[in-house]
Amino acid sequence: MTGAIIGDIVGSRFEFYNRKSKDFTLFTPRCFFTDDTVMTLAVAKALNEYEAVTDYEAFKRTLIKSMHEVGNYYPNCGYGGRFYSWIRNRETAPYNSYGNGSAMRVSPVGWYAKSLEETERLAKATADITHNHSEGIKGAVSVAGAVYLARTGSTMDEIRNYVSRFYKIDFTLDEIRPIYGFYETCQDSVPQAFEAFFKSESFEDAVRNAISIGGDSDTIAAITGSVAEAFYGIDAGLRETAESYLDERLLKIYKEFNKKTEVK
Ligand SMILES: [Mg+2]
Repeated sequence: MTGAIIGDIVGSRFEFYNRKSKDFTLFTPRCFFTDDTVMTLAVAKALNEYEAVTDYEAFKRTLIKSMHEVGNYYPNCGYGGRFYSWIRNRETAPYNSYGNGSAMRVSPVGWYAKSLEETERLAKATADITHNHSEGIKGAVSVAGAVYLARTGSTMDEIRNYVSRFYKIDFTLDEIRPIYGFYETCQDSVPQAFEAFFKSESFEDAVRNAISIGGDSDTIAAITGSVAEAFYGIDAGLRETAESYLDERLLKIYKEFNKKTEVK
């Protein structure tokens, strides 16, 4: 989960000013948290309320409530237009989205669940409430599944194999970097985020890869960072720097979730 938050904060200043290079300062005073961090923590807040999820319909209602509550504290954090109206009007029906929001907010599920099967089921539930299009669900399930596998000791090849069930990745970062534009759909940004992880040598390298292709930088880096954290871990210094960007309300959710899932 911290990996998503770091990716979001590092990518925040590049979303509308892409930097197609791996050479940049990770954290500057111009960085800030955006919707990716806020919604990731809204998912964590819903999970904080359960020792174990058995009633998935009840969990969805809890999550909708959490997203409305946390989301409305941050009306200007960068939501897509349709999603913001869902938050603002406290809508409860899904709207068949396949935006990458379902993938950027799902990482807590991979830390919370006790099995891959539970991870996938919970991930689908988090997508269902808004992003119930098959591509929206696929984005959430594949990212949460990869997080679960990475944190439970799977190798890079095993994770790549798992992801290939969802996406055919037939491009390299170097190939797409000159032409890749701003895409907010799961199908046009989740595979790219995975490739940034597959070609990495460390957590930081993965995030730099994600930024370097441009596009929806904060969200792509949040997705890449989700999986990279689970695979490599994150240095305490980097973690503390990211935490310094959060406010008290978000930090409270963050700390409670980490305590619950025993993430240091
Ligand atoms: Mg964002």
